[in-house]
Amino acid sequence: MSLDLTAPATATRGCRETPVLKERGQREVFCGLTGIIWLHRKMQDAFFLVVGSRTCAHLLQAAAGVMIFAEPRFGTAILEEKDLAGLADANAELDREVARLLERRPDIRQLFLVGSCPSEVIKLDLARAAERLSARNAPHVRVYSYSGSGIETTFTQGEDACLAAMVPSLAQTDARELMLVGALPDVVEDQMVDLLQKLGVGPLRLLPARRSADLPAVGPNTVFALTQPFLGDTHAALQRRGARHVAAPFPFGEEGTTAWLQAIAREFGVDQARFDAVTAAPRARARKAVAAHAGTLAGKSIFFFPDSQLEIPLARFLARECGMTPLEVGTPFLHRELLGPDLDLLPEGPVLSEGQDVDLQLDRQAAAAPDLTICGLGLANPLESRGFTTKWAIELVFSPVHFYEQAGDLAALFSRPLRRKAILTAGGSA
Ligand code: SF4
Repeated sequence: MSLDLTAPATATRGCRETPVLKERGQREVFCGLTGIIWLHRKMQDAFFLVVGSRTCAHLLQAAAGVMIFAEPRFGTAILEEKDLAGLADANAELDREVARLLERRPDIRQLFLVGSCPSEVIKLDLARAAERLSARNAPHVRVYSYSGSGIETTFTQGEDACLAAMVPSLAQTDARELMLVGALPDVVEDQMVDLLQKLGVGPLRLLPARRSADLPAVGPNTVFALTQPFLGDTHAALQRRGARHVAAPFPFGEEGTTAWLQAIAREFGVDQARFDAVTAAPRARARKAVAAHAGTLAGKSIFFFPDSQLEIPLARFLARECGMTPLEVGTPFLHRELLGPDLDLLPEGPVLSEGQDVDLQLDRQAAAAPDLTICGLGLANPLESRGFTTKWAIELVFSPVHFYEQAGDLAALFSRPLRRKAILTAGGSA
């Protein structure tokens, strides 16, 4: 039952050496502010203050829905026209807004100043503002800054930038610990921790932590595993602090989860019998849950527009566990060190593309005529109107999809639109 991570598990060659089509044209993605929606739920004593325009405030409101009962843990300090024209001292106004916020919300222990397109256009230095405000409010509140602007390439970069911003101020340790990096829904995080504890791996630390008091320390004996493939800057920041990455396929599907756990188990010297005993039952459950959808997915083709940065691990899952045929796998960035193990397992065949030139890619998608297209919200409706079946990439990030117990739900996210299409087609021809 052990899995050899050093080579693809089947006779097919992987995609690690496949030439990548690089495009730098117009792109259709959300900005990094979107990450605030899941980050503010995860970090329960944090507040995200976007320094932006009314557009930014509207994006957040629309993406987060209306909160009636809870005081939100995010907001927008709106730059007015006079700020944009450089007529007001935006720093003084920001300090005033932060003072007012912290006075009203003494529960805030971590404050993130989140840059936007407008704050970057007027070159408002939020890093210096964060330093100044951190000194003023220490030790009760730590202030960080990062960019969530649409000038960056895609929406999952918001989480990466947020976590990377936290790394330099994490405490120093020489302890040998496993840091698990990436914001997961609490229920999924609990499953991950439970599996690792049953394997006897630890001590375990989480980044982000649910509360600032539980933030991990880092040092030369820290080993870290990423749960999300879009954490390239955080990966680099942790390495700069001396921590070492455990490379593995990402924990999507039964195979990905097993490979991810196996890499950690190997690092911590877990014997194979224990590994098999802990993982056998959830592996079987995951396989069964995926099989319930594989009948709909097997033999179908799929085309990924670059969006969530989850594309390569998901294509690997869909090809190997669900029998789909990826035609093009587009990703905003291809971080080879992080995605190498998934590329090894992705059967060769699809076009791999990095970045986007949306018109050219739409032409390729039309020519490929896939059964299912994964894309951003902006492209989904036009493609549906042309008769293509689509899935919104952003749902893959908002839904719990990691580890064994979610493997069936992950497959369902792809089978549902195909089933719906089949029902509509049958209804139309009846
Ligand atoms: S950060 Fe930029 S792209 Fe994002 S909502 Fe604000 S103006 Fe729009």
